[in-house]
Amino acid sequence: MVLPVPKSTQQKLEGLRRVVDISPPATVLKQYLKGEPLQVLSGSQNKLFKHAVVVCVFRKWLDQVPQSLMEIGITTFDRLAFEKKFTSPGAHGENFFKLIWSMHVRLHKSAHLPQSDGAKPDQFHFGTTIFSTEEQARHMLDDIWQQPMSEEEPKRGFRAIIYLSFGNNDSLGMTRPNLDFNPSSMKTTIATMNVQNICHQAGTTSHQDASVEYLLNVFDIKTYDLWNTGNAATYITYAAFLSVLRKDLYFDAKTNPKAKPGKFGQSAKKDSMEVMRCLAEWPTPPPPFGCEKFCTLCKSCDHTPLECPKVSLTCKKCEASFMFWRQVNAPSHSSKQCIFANK
Ligand SMILES: [Zn+2]
Ligand SMILES: [Zn+2]
Repeated sequence: MVLPVPKSTQQKLEGLRRVVDISPPATVLKQYLKGEPLQVLSGSQNKLFKHAVVVCVFRKWLDQVPQSLMEIGITTFDRLAFEKKFTSPGAHGENFFKLIWSMHVRLHKSAHLPQSDGAKPDQFHFGTTIFSTEEQARHMLDDIWQQPMSEEEPKRGFRAIIYLSFGNNDSLGMTRPNLDFNPSSMKTTIATMNVQNICHQAGTTSHQDASVEYLLNVFDIKTYDLWNTGNAATYITYAAFLSVLRKDLYFDAKTNPKAKPGKFGQSAKKDSMEVMRCLAEWPTPPPPFGCEKFCTLCKSCDHTPLECPKVSLTCKKCEASFMFWRQVNAPSHSSKQCIFANK
């Protein structure tokens, strides 16, 4: 549910958004992660900036009409929580990554649809996949975008949100089904940043449209099951953080002027892929809603379709469809659940 933002907070956040907007995204993210003030901001604006939360959202839709929203990958990062726990970023920024909350949400309505990009929805490596209704997912996104400055003093309003997206994913959300939720137009969003631009500005790549694999390869990181949106959101966040922190993590004027990972200091003693393996085992809590199992046939949260007692259910519309993939997919759902209006 969208809550009213106190007027005074709203004005402050609007002021913050206007000033942040004229700063290069790579600089904004770097200053935020380092806990340093952003020069163009006033003292009180910098306080709000320090309380900001970084959120990355990556969505996937069916690539055919009705282009149903299928799943959402979300990460959140709170710099203040990092400050309480760590004093340094670690050899490859892993102390930042340990505090990234990664989530993978699949929607009940579209969980039976096949993924044409070959992604494996059951291979989320950084947390727990949950199945949720559209209402639950929307509710959670509202909660993420409305984090109180203080639980005790609700009058202080909400924390600012720095929203990370990748490529055209945000603009696709403007024209496709999106739970009626546009992250960039939420009142608490002070910046909408495309991670491809951040990496380009930070000098990780000379291209404006580099892929996630390419960007992480610069840091000797190989991606696994990237097109599972939960993994995608996590890898995108890593690429953004590593790009803006690169000099701080790896640069040395004499021995490593190009700031290559693994050549100097702490990073030379620790393999970045080993760090990735540890992060995949790092405990991250599941989202506080939805269910971990879901049967697309009978909508039960107690079992998977393979364990369903109603195995005889099948979608008659898809079974009779002239599209081969729909015929193959017909046994995954009932006619009642079908998203297609026709055969
Ligand atoms: Zn069932
Ligand atoms: Zn169907």
